Amino acid sequence: MTRRMTPLAAAALVAAWAGTAVPAKGEEAKAGQAPQRLSRAGQADRIFVNGRVWTGEPGRPPAEALAIRGTSILAVGTSAEARRHAAKGTEIVDLRGRLVVPGFIDGHLHLVGGSLSLEELRLDDAETFAALAQRVGDWARSRPEAHWVTGEGWTYAAFPDGLPSRAQLDVVVPDRPAWLVSYDGHTGWANSVALRLADVTRATVDPPGGAVVRDATGEPTGVLKESAMDLVARRVPKLLPHEKERALRKGIAQAAAWGLTTVHQAGIGEEDLELLARVLEAAPRLRVYAALDIERDPGPEALARQEALRGRFSSDRLRVGAVKGYVDGVVEAKTAAMFEPYPGGGTGLPSWTQEELDRAVAAYDKAGWQVMLHAIGDRGIDMALTAFERAARANGTSGRRHRIEHVEVPRPADLPRFKAAGVVASTQAMFPYPNRNHLGVYVPTLGPERARRALAFKAIDDAGAVQAFGSDWPVFTAEVVRGIACAVTRTTVEGAPAGGWEPAQRLTVEAALRHFTRDAAFAEHAEGQKGTLAPGRLADFVVLSQDLLALPPERVKDTKVLLTVLGGQDTWRAPEF
Ligand SMILES: [Zn+2]
Repeated sequence: MTRRMTPLAAAALVAAWAGTAVPAKGEEAKAGQAPQRLSRAGQADRIFVNGRVWTGEPGRPPAEALAIRGTSILAVGTSAEARRHAAKGTEIVDLRGRLVVPGFIDGHLHLVGGSLSLEELRLDDAETFAALAQRVGDWARSRPEAHWVTGEGWTYAAFPDGLPSRAQLDVVVPDRPAWLVSYDGHTGWANSVALRLADVTRATVDPPGGAVVRDATGEPTGVLKESAMDLVARRVPKLLPHEKERALRKGIAQAAAWGLTTVHQAGIGEEDLELLARVLEAAPRLRVYAALDIERDPGPEALARQEALRGRFSSDRLRVGAVKGYVDGVVEAKTAAMFEPYPGGGTGLPSWTQEELDRAVAAYDKAGWQVMLHAIGDRGIDMALTAFERAARANGTSGRRHRIEHVEVPRPADLPRFKAAGVVASTQAMFPYPNRNHLGVYVPTLGPERARRALAFKAIDDAGAVQAFGSDWPVFTAEVVRGIACAVTRTTVEGAPAGGWEPAQRLTVEAALRHFTRDAAFAEHAEGQKGTLAPGRLADFVVLSQDLLALPPERVKDTKVLLTVLGGQDTWRAPEF
């Protein structure tokens, strides 16, 4: 399919162009000086011409060029029109036909954890126990000075019964404590030394919202689920601030190279928030919308403390606007809260009663906060929706844009409740990635009826909900092109299974792009500033190596990010651009 512009589209483009001259920030004209304002405001610092610009604006035809002044977009239109904004000193960039899209926004990730994952022992690609043992053993041998062996990323599929044991880890690491966290961050695997140090014994009582897995005789197996993970995790030596800071700088640079201009931080403590603020101040290469950790019983004191942070961090570089909590766990560990039992029994592990959840959500809703709730099982999702609906009714509020994070196994009948209550579906584009863990553990743990309605991105769109895409990095990579490729094919990068897993839920490239830009901006109450390319919006955009919108879905994955621009400044430029 060619992308030549029809005469009608070209005419519309010119019409759209005509209304684009806006004063740059800080240049509001004084009364009676309008002509001068127009000429000054018309000069661009940078002009990008001869491209193909997907603006993300509904109804706006594709454009060819962008003019930038300061941190904002001055104009969007044809190359000839853009050149009219050139003056002495204006930089002109020839895009040579490349596709420009709004800067990518990751609607859900963990920046500190993701950044640390770039340097840690990673177990992601070890799909069998033998491969895991090799990786962990090599790492331990190469670091005899490390007091602990810690790592992350193992999948449930590497173990015949879906869960590992301390005996298996004792063989690999007999001499030191070892603590390995699953790829989703919801299950920990300790060896015997670590259990002993943490004083986890048959007498240990399961903490609320967690489980110490035990064998038939009642001895802990080394597997700790959800809140029980903390029994061991709190014994692991903390990183020094400068180590964390170094990792964070690296993570932010990586995010820019993936084309990200904004990320939504799904929960953060005060210490990490201060660290993040310092790093972003020194190297402003990313915008962060942050959610604080939710308080279970938010009294006036807790609300005042969080309110102070919201007031302090309110710039377009770092903005606190939400709180985030967990309603349930994950599918593979059978901790996601379900209406019907899992094969083998159990209906999951909700972290709250409905009444507790209602109370906390209503308190935050009343105080003007956006609430983000992790909910994966159909019962967990129903609990979150119910809490949001009740809070709006009790407080007489609307437009809070509360969010459900993950929305993995909703009942079809619950999908219309998102639109009706104005709740954003915050989903992760790589979650249907059909690897060994997905097909071998995730799908069988759900069973056929639930698997068919799991990760139903198309059904969520069809129900009229706003759907924001993210990665949940480090659960999956935050490389946006990989996420888009997964959402449009539902295959692995090798193309399996043929036709894709549950192919009826594949999206178009344009829908996937929208979820990573405009819809993610909506999910942070910022669609007026970013997520689309229009005059007056922040100059956040990326240049891609190929025209995603004209490609067969299976070739999307080969797309490279050539240039990332944040507020008019390059934050990433590929060597070949
Ligand atoms: Zn997460």
